[in-house]
Amino acid sequence: MKRSNSEKLYEKALEYFPGGVNSPVRAFKAVEGAPLFIKKGKGPYIWDEDENQFIDFCCSFGPHILGHNYPDVHQNIVDTLENGTSFGAPTKLESDLAEIIISRNPYVDKIRFVSSGTEAVMSGIRLARGYTGKNKIIKFEGCYHGHFDSLLVNAGSGLATFGESSSAGVPQKVVEDTIVIPLNDEEALEAAFEKHADDLACVIIEPIPANNGLLLQEKSFLLKLREMCTEHGVLLFFDEVISGFRVAFSGAAEYYDIAPDIVSYGKIIGGGLPVGAYGAKKHIMQSVSPDGPVYQAGTLSGNPVAMAAGIAQLTVCSQPGFYEDQEARTKTFVESVNAHAKEKGYDFSLVTVGSIFWMAFSDQTTIRSAAQINADMTPFKKLHKALLERSVYVGPSGYEVGFVSHVHTKEVLENAAQQFKNALDAVF
Ligand code: PLP
Repeated sequence: MKRSNSEKLYEKALEYFPGGVNSPVRAFKAVEGAPLFIKKGKGPYIWDEDENQFIDFCCSFGPHILGHNYPDVHQNIVDTLENGTSFGAPTKLESDLAEIIISRNPYVDKIRFVSSGTEAVMSGIRLARGYTGKNKIIKFEGCYHGHFDSLLVNAGSGLATFGESSSAGVPQKVVEDTIVIPLNDEEALEAAFEKHADDLACVIIEPIPANNGLLLQEKSFLLKLREMCTEHGVLLFFDEVISGFRVAFSGAAEYYDIAPDIVSYGKIIGGGLPVGAYGAKKHIMQSVSPDGPVYQAGTLSGNPVAMAAGIAQLTVCSQPGFYEDQEARTKTFVESVNAHAKEKGYDFSLVTVGSIFWMAFSDQTTIRSAAQINADMTPFKKLHKALLERSVYVGPSGYEVGFVSHVHTKEVLENAAQQFKNALDAVF
């Protein structure tokens, strides 16, 4: 595989950016070679600067549920651009996107658009604290909620890939109100509530933890969490930046039929442009400025071009059968790869929910700790290389998940499954 153009571009980027990148996992530190510099994407494919073509399962780490450059999304962006890019004043497009999100979503009455998932969660946490008048929060080991200080503790793929659990530069004082407990552990949850319930503003969880492998939770655990929050007057915060509009229109809340008090969205709602949002029922959102005392703002919040992309994307996602179709295609792909791994006796399986999958170096499909099985990145590194050589692109860390899009057709996925099988044969 020719890589010389990417290598040259990487050398230049190293002069300008730490690690040559603008987000750490992109740096290919856990895998071989220079990061591929991507030139374009169309449908389920991307092309790098050396003209190599790949089936893309990274999909920009989640936003591209319709694949790259989907015609409706592209057209809506272009049409909106004609009118300008940002005004610092309300536009019709903001309400149009909010209407699509809220009209089919029983969990939120009002939302506020921001520009990233990090901002959405950060603002939602401030809202939880402002609304309840309490400061402590519970988060779970391995769940990632963006890179702001108070949640950057035991937080997912980026840190785990580089062998750290928390970031330098976060003062101890800032995280002393963050209580971290293991996922899927009712005893730890009860103990934390016993000790801290009176001071807790919220419990935040990725209801489908997908930032440290795919650590699917028992529904009974999520129900217990809901029950304890209700009993103690603590807000339940579902961070649906990945799962929202991915596993079902209203995310994991709809998938598991469990109602959160606050939610955060990102990725898919922006159609590939920078958008995040947080939302809740009216009585909670009334605390947000200018209606209430919880301040939050943004120069580019509700950016019209990003709104236009989101409107087009979510309109397609709203079509009947959209999620059932995504899930069925993904399941066939995963089952085909897993049957091969099982037949050959490989310590490998794809773990899946909806149109998300994770490459786990274990023959178990219910995995509670990614650290135990993918901590040694050597097998993943070999698989990543073998997949690239077979024209399949996945995120460059064994803790990242893969995403199947609307345009990863049956034929594309059959080809991808064959390439996965060939790659596994080369690795094991
Ligand atoms: N929350 C979750 C669950 C995420 O997966 C991410 C990003 O991967 C974030 C928050 C942060 O979003 P962003 O990278 O847009 O700031």
